[in-house]
Amino acid sequence: MDKDNHIQELLSGYLKELFLSTMRKSYADLAQQARQDSLSYEEYLLELAERECLNRRNNRIERNLRESNLPRDKTLETFDLKKVPGKVAQQVRLLREGAFVDHQENILAFGNPGSGKTHLLCAIGQELIRKGRKVYFAACSLLVQDLLKAKEQLQLKRMLKKLSKYDAVLIDDIGYVQQDRAEMEVLFTLLADRYERGSVMITSNLPFSKWERIFKDPMVTAAAIDRLVHHSVILELNIPSYRMAAAQGKKSKETQSVSSAGQL
Ligand code: ADP
Ligand code: MG
Repeated sequence: MDKDNHIQELLSGYLKELFLSTMRKSYADLAQQARQDSLSYEEYLLELAERECLNRRNNRIERNLRESNLPRDKTLETFDLKKVPGKVAQQVRLLREGAFVDHQENILAFGNPGSGKTHLLCAIGQELIRKGRKVYFAACSLLVQDLLKAKEQLQLKRMLKKLSKYDAVLIDDIGYVQQDRAEMEVLFTLLADRYERGSVMITSNLPFSKWERIFKDPMVTAAAIDRLVHHSVILELNIPSYRMAAAQGKKSKETQSVSSAGQL
């Protein structure tokens, strides 16, 4: 018994030193089980290694989800693909596999306010993370402020390097807030920095024809669009607002229940 205790203590120490915390937690119970089920040494070790890997993978995904800033409730499970044009639904089926980030391809989602652009790209972002990628989500206006602050502190290069660690940067609502020249410049710097090096996912209410409002100068606008579009998938969500439809649906249900209440 004493010898057993000694072994347990040593083993526990080694596994800790090797950062194999899942193995450390489960090896003893699993050993008991293995004896009962007459598992081979290899089968026992396989089960332990599998548990360690699975746990690590899940922890990594959880950490990346937290770090991504993505809203948790905007998933593909909560998104009704039947509400979007058939072409978009088809594109999403491919995009959710995530291969587009291997080719540094961009996704550009256009459509009216409420058409589901943000939800859809966030959902694809979550899918990417679940497949082991890293994604960073930011509202365009906030991201631009962060970039400007970094520039003022001579840290812009550092911030771009930090962002380059992400397979995809999701910039939500580009062009929604009017930007001044300095803001537009840092935004352009980010897009240029990621060109052919990392994916960008963008949502916008503004069609390209109105992007001069964002980048002010026609040459800069053309250069930005050119870089974004070069390797990209464009999702056209030209559909009525989901919010509006949901609100109207609710209203008509209410009036229905009011009128049916009136009939009672
Ligand atoms: P946009 O970014 O185009 O303005 P959002 O993605 O913010 O639109 O969508 C508006 C609201 O409607 C959000 O609460 C979103 O979750 C919901 N929504 C939009 N489209 C769908 C859809 N196809 N299925 C489920 N919810 C949707
Ligand atoms: Mg949006």
